[in-house]
Amino acid sequence: AKTSGRNRVSIFNTEMHDKFVERVSLGDRLKSAVNNYEFIIHYQPQVNFDGKLKGAEALLRWQSPDQELIPPLSFIPMAEENGLIIPIGYWALNTVCQQLVAWQKNPQTLELCIAINISALQFRQPDFSNQLKKILLETGANPHLLTLELTESVLLDDLDNVIKIILDLRAIGVRFSIDDFGTGYSSLTYLKRLPLDEIKIDKSFVTDLMNDPGDRAIIRSILSLANSLSLNVTAEGIELPEQRDFLAKEGCSTFQGYLYGRPTAIDEFNLFVEHFSAA
Ligand code: C2E
Ligand code: CA
Ligand code: CA
Ligand code: CA
Repeated sequence: AKTSGRNRVSIFNTEMHDKFVERVSLGDRLKSAVNNYEFIIHYQPQVNFDGKLKGAEALLRWQSPDQELIPPLSFIPMAEENGLIIPIGYWALNTVCQQLVAWQKNPQTLELCIAINISALQFRQPDFSNQLKKILLETGANPHLLTLELTESVLLDDLDNVIKIILDLRAIGVRFSIDDFGTGYSSLTYLKRLPLDEIKIDKSFVTDLMNDPGDRAIIRSILSLANSLSLNVTAEGIELPEQRDFLAKEGCSTFQGYLYGRPTAIDEFNLFVEHFSAA
């Protein structure tokens, strides 16, 4: 009966069945990955206008025992669907706070900041700000060195409540950035209402900016908007000096992309810091 059931499924719709099995097993594998701490953080440099290293964006990777490193876009959608992004997200927050503390012990790395991506699902948890405060207290990390990157999807929630949480955490020094700005549901009015520190220009506007006058126009208007609201701007996806030069000329203040460095494991990032500071 089992075999005929399977046959019927495969006659009915093999592709759908395969997709289903794939998703189930990805969900199961993620569950055991959480229990076995199979995640690591890679760090990608962020550089100030004056060429000094500001710090890093923390980017999640899944290190499954017998597999290559799995990039976040291959598992985060599933982790959002089954809720595992919440324990994964707290693990990531804990890890970067411990890293901040490790840097605080060395005068050369004392002021390095970390920006971390926070899923809307996690941010929406009623105890999010208390959990984060607990992590900050337990690790001893300096909240002023931590930036939370939120995407525009957070803003689909009750805006008053979002503002309340941001104000609560900003009161202890945590900084806030809107990620992938311009790619989502952005409206100019919410930007005015939100107590933010920074906007991030998505790499989709940077990649082709030398050939695409439309991208340049969008970048210019983001920068002028940010300027009039006194927000810092970080541009990501900078691979070429010409892209950096255009962004700098238009008033961008922080730079991130392969031009400066790819995301790397912490040991390699720390070596990078040494070379970068010596240069
Ligand atoms: P994002 O937040 O927009 O991160 C920037 C992505 O652009 C990263 O991809 C980074 O490796 C890539 N990138 C940076 N500079 C360059 C460049 O010069 N050229 C090119 N081609 N790519 C560049 P990554 O690490 O694969 O992360 C993808 C997305 O996954 C992130 O996009 C973010 O939305 C999400 N993500 C990563 N880590 C986390 C996390 O800890 N939590 C949550 N919720 N989401 C995360
Ligand atoms: Ca980001
Ligand atoms: Ca992006
Ligand atoms: Ca384009």
